[in-house]
Amino acid sequence: MAEKIQMKTPLVEMDGDEMTRVIWQMIKDTLLTPYIDLKTEYYDLGLVHRNETKDQVTIDSAEATKKYGVAVKCATITPNAQRMTEYNLSEMWKSPNGTIRAILDGTVFRAPIIVKGITPYIPTWTKPITIARHAYGDVYKNTEMVVDGGCKAELVVTDKDGNETRSLIHDFKTPGIIQGLHNIDASIASFARACFNYALDIKQDVWFATKDTISKKYDHRFKDIFQEIFDTEYKEKFQEAGIEYFYTLIDDAVARVVRSEGGYIWACKNYDGDVMSDMVATAYGSLGMMTSVLVSPDGIYEYEAAHGTVTRHYYKHLKGEPTSTNSVATLFAWTGALRKRGELDGISDLCRFADNLEKATIQTIEDGVMTGDLYVLSKLENKQKVGTEEFLNEIRNRLDKLMA
Ligand code: NAP
Ligand code: MG
Repeated sequence: MAEKIQMKTPLVEMDGDEMTRVIWQMIKDTLLTPYIDLKTEYYDLGLVHRNETKDQVTIDSAEATKKYGVAVKCATITPNAQRMTEYNLSEMWKSPNGTIRAILDGTVFRAPIIVKGITPYIPTWTKPITIARHAYGDVYKNTEMVVDGGCKAELVVTDKDGNETRSLIHDFKTPGIIQGLHNIDASIASFARACFNYALDIKQDVWFATKDTISKKYDHRFKDIFQEIFDTEYKEKFQEAGIEYFYTLIDDAVARVVRSEGGYIWACKNYDGDVMSDMVATAYGSLGMMTSVLVSPDGIYEYEAAHGTVTRHYYKHLKGEPTSTNSVATLFAWTGALRKRGELDGISDLCRFADNLEKATIQTIEDGVMTGDLYVLSKLENKQKVGTEEFLNEIRNRLDKLMA
């Protein structure tokens, strides 16, 4: 075999939990290290080690990402009550993704991988729709109250000199509920820049939508900030790249998305992004085919799969039963990170390797060789279901030919 591809800057490698941790090692052994002299700075974000380090390892891995610029992350367990006993945790550690996102101040972009034989539930969607979800504020940082009848609810803002501005929410004759939301101009601006930068990166239009006709101050602020940043910082760059920024009302956006052929970035407010990404992911097929990348406003990238640690499959694996877990989204996290590293360090062989590995993966599925989640969806006649490891070996066979 030819000499291995050399890297310059290490990738920040964030290992994870359960079935995806098993797949992580298989991907490295079967597909990466035979071709690359893999240079990573390794952080073990598996729950055992997060607990041992009191979650410091998560913070360290995010700081390393800031330093080097590109990370690849395995899915991780977000602890709940059941995990407390299962892993004998000293504390219910927070979601690693939340911690990393807060440190990098990033926006998450999610896009499906499209293959022949798997038709989206909306058959006109021939290109991927990338959802960009604002990850701060609104209903996720709300204050709620249950209000008795006979109460008056007001919004009160106190300035630094103690002056109050009041606005009536509702005069409650009978019992009801209220909710206070907020967002911050700087966070909205970061979100806008992350979307516009990513659009220039992948050469796709940006769509953005809010309910500004009803929410004339709150949602309108989002619309205004996006427009101002676009006009002053991005308009010319977009023209040069031949792409567009398009704003419309959220109702209109939803209707247009369904009629579209895909191939753009749909920037969503926090709640819209939460709900719409589940809708879009389901409509394209399997969770195992959804990629995810966190991009910070200063151009730092963290690649991962959109799905979790596939616990149900892992428990089967532990019992020695065969599994058929889809590794494609995790694999594409690696190719995304390697390609970005190649671009930043000027290593064209690394970019070519990433392209070939993606090609080999898609070829494998289009040849009819796939994991169980795709097997039930695929319309190919010659399809066969293979196990977790066998699927990776089949990719390896095709990769070897492409790299020869
Ligand atoms: P999940 O791991 O995404 O799995 C849910 C179900 O979706 C699986 O049981 C499986 O269905 C199917 N599935 C997901 N990924 C698949 C793949 N690659 N191949 C084949 N099938 C796949 O979600 P979860 O069960 O709700 O969460 C499990 C753990 O993951 C939790 O501890 C959660 O905290 C964590 N999580 C982490 C992240 C992250 O790190 N980004 C994201 C979400 C969840 P079948 O069982 O029907 O085959
Ligand atoms: Mg959701």
